[in-house]
Amino acid sequence: QLITFEGIDGSGKSTQARMLVERLRAKGHDVIHTREPGGSTGAEEIRALILNGDADRWSAETEILLFTAARRDHLEKTILPAIEAGQIVVCDRFADSTRVYQGATRGDLRSVVDKLHELMIGHEPDLTFIIDMDPEIALNRGLARVGAEERFENMGLAFQETVRHGFLSIAHSAKDRCIIVDGNRTPEQVSAEILAIFEDRA
Ligand code: C5P
Repeated sequence: QLITFEGIDGSGKSTQARMLVERLRAKGHDVIHTREPGGSTGAEEIRALILNGDADRWSAETEILLFTAARRDHLEKTILPAIEAGQIVVCDRFADSTRVYQGATRGDLRSVVDKLHELMIGHEPDLTFIIDMDPEIALNRGLARVGAEERFENMGLAFQETVRHGFLSIAHSAKDRCIIVDGNRTPEQVSAEILAIFEDRA
């Protein structure tokens, strides 16, 4: 099965993905931990193309194609083989990030994102944790973090708020797979809730 983590930059989703992986492994599950953009050799190469360079390096449309190409490779080479082998796949970001970042922050391109997803990906997670977080706190965390020079980071508070609402709106329209988790707590508290939700649904 595929479990994804989504949320704004600085929401703690990567920490939570890692903690869930550790907790599941400690319980004896066979888990792979992966991330997007990236997660396969080809997709990591595409990640470097996407994340390095100026903000206007790619048009919004080209960016959607690059993210979709990376996801397709990740799915073919990493995710589907692992699911086939009976592993639990925990992925930091997946298609919801593209729906929000590429679909709603550079104009309204959601229908382009959705069409490409249907054509080239066609796979949804079994469970998605959306780590919800005060955008201002998340922004400050993001700024403090090493690697904050990546071209998508530091986009400002209004940007963070747009992204937060995008994720919340997906959570409300896909209630069967999305769970909103309050990220304004200690990592241990958040992680304990996530594990409990996972076990409850297993
Ligand atoms: O999750 P991570 O911090 O590795 O993502 C790297 C950057 O790429 C983030 O700043 C995120 O906002 C951006 N991103 C994006 N569109 C995606 C996925 C990530 O703009 N679909």
